Amino acid sequence: MKKGHYGPYGGQYIAETLMTPLRELEAAYEDAKADPAFQAEFREILRDYVGRESPLTFARRLTERLGGARIVLKREDLNHTGAHKVNNTIGQALLARRMGKKRLIAETGAGMHGVATATVAALFGMPCEVYMGATDVARQAPNVARMKMLGATVHPIEEGGATLKDAMNEAIRDWIANCDDTFYVIGTVAGPHPYPAMVRDFQSVIGTEARRQMLEKFGKLPDQAIACVGGGSNAMGLFAGFLDDPGVRLVGVEAGGKGIATGEHAASICGGRPGVLHGSKTYLLQTDDGQILDTYSVSAGLDYPGVGPEHAYLADTGRAEYVPVDDAEAVAAFDALCRYEGIIPALESSHAVAEAIKRAPHLPGDAILLVNLSGRGDKDMDNVLAWKAAHPPVPAL
Ligand SMILES: *Cc1c(COP(=O)(O)O)cnc(C)c1O
Repeated sequence: MKKGHYGPYGGQYIAETLMTPLRELEAAYEDAKADPAFQAEFREILRDYVGRESPLTFARRLTERLGGARIVLKREDLNHTGAHKVNNTIGQALLARRMGKKRLIAETGAGMHGVATATVAALFGMPCEVYMGATDVARQAPNVARMKMLGATVHPIEEGGATLKDAMNEAIRDWIANCDDTFYVIGTVAGPHPYPAMVRDFQSVIGTEARRQMLEKFGKLPDQAIACVGGGSNAMGLFAGFLDDPGVRLVGVEAGGKGIATGEHAASICGGRPGVLHGSKTYLLQTDDGQILDTYSVSAGLDYPGVGPEHAYLADTGRAEYVPVDDAEAVAAFDALCRYEGIIPALESSHAVAEAIKRAPHLPGDAILLVNLSGRGDKDMDNVLAWKAAHPPVPAL
């Protein structure tokens, strides 16, 4: 396959002015990837700052309640900052420093990638500017406060719908104007080549660790590896460890919101079709004439109208399967993990847990479902309470 292409997906659909900085980035990344010193420093920071490796936890009480396959959690919620995103921002900040860039920029929707970028900017002593739709700035006040506390500047964007896609346009504009000294940190496996491959590589620590830990702890690989998919970085990181193991089913769980049929969801593969967004060809939520649609999910972090191009390819080839989980199912899974395991999961991750809860009872007791617990849920408690106040009770497990 041509570099940066995943079947018909991926590529570099960008303004001519960005060809030079993207080529520079690609060359710098290829060079860093092959440099043992770069890899060693990345691993050292993941160990001493993030606290890796993250453990595998057997969800014993949940498994006993369901009867059937064992559910095992990969605990990315235990990372510093409480999610997987920091694995990637550390990698990109290291690369920025190596390229002599002085300034980090990012766009963010729910604010989680903004916080992860502001965190590494402080760690590396670099100024950081984050573009965020004005609507999101209002909705995600705690994350805006975190970014400011970490020393970042947050720019509220009033244009368009004042959400993620408008912030993305502004970040790209900044990069075009300032690419000499500025590194654009993308938070998921999206964007033009080399971002999808680079972010996948930085997140592949999840799958590489999990594969080894499965063999050490359980003496076998999982039967299924399950992860939620927003842009797709935690899922691609997990899948990367098992792509060459045909016996491991790969399952991506999209945000079904109020149900695919309602149109109010964020399921780009299950409910979208191919188009171009953010510099690459992939599945998108769009109108008949190609306007990007607003997304909806109870979980702000899954609210991205596209998906990484490698997922689009894995979906078309059947190597991975993609399913929607709706808000009510995710909230029920959130409750179940709290009550049965003493773990408050992110609402994003709760979508993956919900799919495991659906599947486990239909499988034999020696089967293992490995679920990526992409983040912790402290940030979501108000959302869960507000959602419950507005909806009929979800049945307790
Ligand atoms: C941002 C986020 C996601 C979604 O992003 P991906 O790129 O699809 O992984 C999932 N879980 C958590 C906890 C997040 O913060």
